[in-house]
Amino acid sequence: MTKPPEEPSIGRQVDQFVAALDLEGASNEDIAALAEQLVGMGREAVEGLARGALRPGPSRREQVAALLACLEGEGASWALATLGEVLGSRSVSPTERVWLLTILRRLEEAAASPARGGAGSRAAGEEPGELPDGLLADETEWLLWREELETLTPAEQEMALAPILEGGDARFLPLLEMAMSLRQPSLDVAVASGLARFPTPATLPLLRELLRRADPLVRKRARETLLALERQGVETREVFVASVEESDEPVVAALATRPDRGGQMAVLIARGNAPGRVRYAVVVIDPVEGGIVRAWGESGLTEAEFREHLVGLGNQVGQDFLPLDVNTAQALVAEAEEYACRQGRELPAEYVAWRRCVGKPGAPAELPVAFAPSCSECGKRVRGGDIARGGLVVGRVALCARCAEKPRGCAVCGRALHHIFDDFFVREAGGRVQFVCLRCARGRQGKSSP
Ligand SMILES: [Zn+2]
Ligand SMILES: [Zn+2]
Repeated sequence: MTKPPEEPSIGRQVDQFVAALDLEGASNEDIAALAEQLVGMGREAVEGLARGALRPGPSRREQVAALLACLEGEGASWALATLGEVLGSRSVSPTERVWLLTILRRLEEAAASPARGGAGSRAAGEEPGELPDGLLADETEWLLWREELETLTPAEQEMALAPILEGGDARFLPLLEMAMSLRQPSLDVAVASGLARFPTPATLPLLRELLRRADPLVRKRARETLLALERQGVETREVFVASVEESDEPVVAALATRPDRGGQMAVLIARGNAPGRVRYAVVVIDPVEGGIVRAWGESGLTEAEFREHLVGLGNQVGQDFLPLDVNTAQALVAEAEEYACRQGRELPAEYVAWRRCVGKPGAPAELPVAFAPSCSECGKRVRGGDIARGGLVVGRVALCARCAEKPRGCAVCGRALHHIFDDFFVREAGGRVQFVCLRCARGRQGKSSP
């Protein structure tokens, strides 16, 4: 980071200010008085405080945050501009960025309000630092934040969460969801209590998950928060059907690969409302065992880059992505999530991050694969082990490994077909599964409907 020349004496004075702040002993009035003194020292001092926000030191960040939280009007706008620069620096880590965002958000409000003393508002000729909302709407950023959070000590994790929980800003909810996906009871307890400061129905899906956690304290806090939200006018009866809000960007593409022999398929939803702002999420679903196998995505792409990615993705999964109607694509993923939850499976963190991009189906849909399939011939539940030993899930038809092993021929020409080594189509007729060789299937295509 480049350091503009700074009056050393001012810098030292600011440091002394910060160090002198005893957070345990000081009252709010004490802190406000210190902050006022600092503003009295002029713009340079406030900028020095902001510039040094990330400097290491025991409880230094809390001290700086406490002082910055007292700034109003002109003082706030001075700090805002400098913090915006710090945030833009490449050396800032994901948790530092989020911490800075929580401070920026408050300063932005404070800069817009007149100073406590009644003296003017924004510094002359100063644009209000635009809160970089992009960071808060970027799934990749959420996942990076989660990754860093995971490496922190419990005390540091608590420090990273505290300003978000205190701020009560719904735009930070995806980060809380990321924290929850680490499945650490200490974090879950903090989130379960802190959600009481977010009086919006958007908290309900998070509480729903916390109410199902194994740790009794987490569930207790979540129940208390539910009551607290109700008192604040949030309609909480919906908690068990609430689903995560979807991205408000329009869907520009919905695609999926054909299901493989085990019924797995990759579903892709792309959104974008401006050129160069396409984002997409891919979710690999498994109707037999896991529900959701994995998910990933990318944001900030141009239309052309997205098309390029699509070709690469097709190569990656070994299949082309074919158009699918949006509702069916969303219904597939929604059903896969439900299925995973019913089986008590953990949802991959990447999926939790990207599911807003996928969105929810608006209407019931007939799915191209059956979840929790049973063998169409013997009725036995088909499991992953069946698929590994030659079992099949083809559309709504499934065969367990044992039934798939039975010798079969093409239902049309009688040619013997091996269930693993030959390619064939499958259809169900009178409770039996019939194989049709490719040649016969192709020959039929022109003549009759499927
Ligand atoms: Zn069977
Ligand atoms: Zn045939």
